[in-house]
Amino acid sequence: MTDTASTGRPSVVVLGGGYGGVSVAKTLDDVADVTLVDPTEGFVHNIAALRSLVQPDLVDRIYLPYDRLLVHGRFVQDRAVRVHGRRVELESGGVLEPDYLVLATGSSYPFPAKNDESDLATAKARHRAAHEELARAARVLIVGAGPTGLELAGEIKAFAPDKHVVITDVADDVLSGPFVQELRDELRRQLAELGVELRLGVKLRELPSTPPATREAIRVTTTDGDEIAADIWYRTFGVKLHTEYLDGGSLAGVRDERGYVRVDARMRVEGETRVFALGDIANADRDVAAAAGRQAEVVAGNIRALITGEGESLEYARFGPLIAVPLGPEGGSGFFGDGLATPEMVSQLKGRDMMVDRHATLFGMSPDEA
Ligand SMILES: Cc1cc2nc3c(=O)[nH]c(=O)nc-3n(C[C@H](O)[C@H](O)[C@H](O)COP(=O)(O)OP(=O)(O)OC[C@H]3O[C@@H](n4cnc5c(N)ncnc54)[C@H](O)[C@@H]3O)c2cc1C
Repeated sequence: MTDTASTGRPSVVVLGGGYGGVSVAKTLDDVADVTLVDPTEGFVHNIAALRSLVQPDLVDRIYLPYDRLLVHGRFVQDRAVRVHGRRVELESGGVLEPDYLVLATGSSYPFPAKNDESDLATAKARHRAAHEELARAARVLIVGAGPTGLELAGEIKAFAPDKHVVITDVADDVLSGPFVQELRDELRRQLAELGVELRLGVKLRELPSTPPATREAIRVTTTDGDEIAADIWYRTFGVKLHTEYLDGGSLAGVRDERGYVRVDARMRVEGETRVFALGDIANADRDVAAAAGRQAEVVAGNIRALITGEGESLEYARFGPLIAVPLGPEGGSGFFGDGLATPEMVSQLKGRDMMVDRHATLFGMSPDEA
């Protein structure tokens, strides 16, 4: 399949239907011939993935089929395996060669924080099964004290306070990264109040051999010789960027030493005028959906201006070290730019509803539909 716009409108191909990609695709749907490509059947609102682990009635509202996203454009369930300039080769053998190409292929993260099943029925069944596994476990081991590990501990304690939860990390403190120390102190204070045990500055000799999120007796040993026993464990570290389709193509060299795609202020891939990249794979900012959303506005605005010849080109401005870490629906802390966020602020922004309805509505789902 060779694709050129059949509608007379310029063509835009968006690779990846995560937070950034769906926003670009939707915003340009009225002005371009948009094709959204993703190997999975639907968008995953993974911000609410950990809440759905403890509250499985939410599962139907976080896995959202792409078929109702675009009015004019189309969704193609396929995977980019090679990109050469604006030419995209798909796993199916198809080829797309649009006027504008947007790389928004994001990252994967260990289940249940992200779920890479390609069909939604299987993805949802896996999530519900993980809930059942957790429900039958009394002792939980979380390996990784970053925002995902802390959030997971908070969810489990909020919904099942009797479970024993221990978090381990090689780092000496929780939440490594560009954050103020008061935030770490406050999160540790709340975790202690919830009864979460922290084993920081310890290295495990090896990870459990049992797959994560599966109930089975586990015994791990730290390099100091201490033993930790649990009934289930979760891996909450190990982000992997999806840019392997650049290997061997003309854009292979645009990645920096950490693997991020280098973009300019207008979110164009280094050296390109009509290839853009955004979200977790771009080197523009931290790997957060909020940044992907803002970058999507810049990319869509710039492509629209190129297509219509109207409007100024937009430039992306970095967020500061902003973060919200819920610990259950009513707890948590964060940094919103002017000091520590209270549990009430975090709860209002994210913790209470995990932004579920906002995303379900984007995909044409009514508030009571599931
Ligand atoms: C548990 C958890 C909670 C989080 N909470 C927050 C939060 O509260 N606030 C916040 O701002 N951020 C949060 N994040 C981070 C946020 O989820 C990511 O930053 C965000 O998903 C990045 O969006 P993206 O559009 O770059 O890519 P992604 O959302 O990773 O989507 C990428 C898409 O590309 C597709 N894809 C991959 N390879 C290919 C290919 N070769 N061809 C075509 N398509 C491909 C994938 O299937 C996927 O659908 C959280 C993350 C986790 C794990």
